[in-house]
Amino acid sequence: MNRKGDDNGGKDCSEKKKMKVGGHWSQGLKASMHDPSLIVKQDELIVIIKDKYPKAKHHYLILPKADVRNLKALNIDHLSLLKHMQDEAKKLINGIESPSGFKIGYHAVPSMSQLHLHAISQDFDSPCLKTKTHWNAFTTEYFIDSEDVIRDVEKYGKVCCIDERSAKEILKKDLRCHICNESLKNMPKLKEHILVHMGKKNNS
Ligand code: AMP
Ligand code: ZN
Repeated sequence: MNRKGDDNGGKDCSEKKKMKVGGHWSQGLKASMHDPSLIVKQDELIVIIKDKYPKAKHHYLILPKADVRNLKALNIDHLSLLKHMQDEAKKLINGIESPSGFKIGYHAVPSMSQLHLHAISQDFDSPCLKTKTHWNAFTTEYFIDSEDVIRDVEKYGKVCCIDERSAKEILKKDLRCHICNESLKNMPKLKEHILVHMGKKNNS
């Protein structure tokens, strides 16, 4: 257990700490893009890193090397980059055995700077997944499928499928299981519940 009494299984899950070399925590991905211990793959256009505070057993971020701040900065010139990011995410997950499957998408209102595509397994089995905000950010329409972003940019030359105010309201929604839609009172109950779906616990 850490000092706050959270059992994180020995993993440091405190995200919003000041970066060691100075700078704001929201710029952390820019540093992590160059961290050999996190890099999984890279080419001339993109870098794939392990999410430092994974919210599931398998959680990766695909980032462009060029400066692209967020979804709002996207235009038609980014189309081939977005498709490449998605292709690379698909290649990556195809090589990973995960009975729960994967989703590939963006957060409607990301907290971290530099565009990043999440590739995340659907077991949500991680000590870093702790809050209602975490849960709703990955299991509701706050998580926008990569295909939808590409479709918007292809059709309109920008991302239209985001209403920031209603996106933030989504994060406050009551907790529901992403598989059977059962309503759960709190995160410990929810985490116990999903173990049943993952075959780790009997339904009794
Ligand atoms: P969001 O901006 O909401 O799409 O999520 C940012 C993601 O980046 C979260 O899944 C965090 O766990 C992850 N994250 C935060 N800081 C870092 C970092 N310094 N290096 C790698 N991943 C990070
Ligand atoms: Zn369920």
